[in-house]
Amino acid sequence: LGVSVCTDKLFKVLVIGDLGVGKTSIILRYVNKLFDDTYKASIGVDFALKTIEWNTRTVVRLQFWDIAGQERIKNMSRAYYKGAMGAVVVFDVTHSPTLEAASEWKRDLDSKVCLDSGHPIPAVLLANKCDMKGWDGGFVSSLDRFCKDNGFLGWFETSAKDNINIDEASAFLVKQMMLCD
Ligand code: GDP
Ligand code: MG
Repeated sequence: LGVSVCTDKLFKVLVIGDLGVGKTSIILRYVNKLFDDTYKASIGVDFALKTIEWNTRTVVRLQFWDIAGQERIKNMSRAYYKGAMGAVVVFDVTHSPTLEAASEWKRDLDSKVCLDSGHPIPAVLLANKCDMKGWDGGFVSSLDRFCKDNGFLGWFETSAKDNINIDEASAFLVKQMMLCD
């Protein structure tokens, strides 16, 4: 009889992007399975833990680091980024300046943290609020290019409100983090 070995992995995941793009809502949706549009941002960094049974032998714990209140400076301290294994950069599809901001966030991230190998940590881009009227997917084709140019491994259109693609985006990121681990 084989001995079953269970591994337990903990990944620190940063969730960054401009104020109002839906970072906190995405985390709440993913971790607590709810959307609350009366949620008010608190001050400081918030944490949320999500445990997933990745497969029969592996439990993955994701520790999400939310930011609240520090978005305007568009850069965070090295201490905040330290030890991160993955990043989720969020923008709001109804507000295009937040996409420009996503590349600034990505640059700030890569300047302050990298893998032991020296490579950038895996990062995924979320085009959030895709449930909104007026979002016609018009710039979807340009997002592939944007991801290449800015070093994102991929992008997903998401809605924290309607629970679209949040689980998929997370699974994609976990897969990438497992490869780097
Ligand atoms: P944060 O500042 O990036 O943490 O953004 P919040 O999570 O606080 O969300 C900002 C506002 O956008 C809130 O009023 C949310 O209810 C709303 N919001 C967040 N995600 C979505 C979404 O997927 N769809 C829609 N329609 N609204 C959203
Ligand atoms: Mg927030």
